[in-house]
Amino acid sequence: MATDLEAARLMVLRGAWAIDNDHPEKTKWCAMAKRLATDACFHIADEALQLHGGYGYLKDYPLERIVRDLRVHRILEGTNEIMRVIIAREMAK
Ligand SMILES: Cc1cc2nc3c(=O)[nH]c(=O)nc-3n(C[C@H](O)[C@H](O)[C@H](O)COP(=O)(O)OP(=O)(O)OC[C@H]3O[C@@H](n4cnc5c(N)ncnc54)[C@H](O)[C@@H]3O)c2cc1C
Repeated sequence: MATDLEAARLMVLRGAWAIDNDHPEKTKWCAMAKRLATDACFHIADEALQLHGGYGYLKDYPLERIVRDLRVHRILEGTNEIMRVIIAREMAK
């Protein structure tokens, strides 16, 4: 989980760097970062919930909110399916 989180963080940082530097691959790299980071972080939070058992699911603890909040980021700001469309379009250029 820690390794996947670091990998996602590096992808996001590279996307941000690419925008700051107007890199020719910025569109593809940002779409890849958004897709990978939001999928990976949802799975990481889901695993954390599983580790906590039933308590992870209850509103008594903040974990269930983290899982819900992460779930929507696979939809917001362009769904992850649309990120795949953007990546494929950039690769086919
Ligand atoms: C909590 C929340 C807050 C939001 N806030 C905002 C906001 O502040 N501003 C704003 O503008 N919008 C906002 N939205 C809307 C959000 O951007 C859209 O929900 C999102 O873009 C997906 O569009 P849709 O819901 O119409 O899904 P649809 O476009 O109907 O997609 C349905 C499903 O089909 C898939 N799909 C669609 N087209 C393709 C394709 N070509 N290839 C493959 N798969 C495809 C999608 O990935 C998705 O899984 C918000 C949504 C939520 C849930």
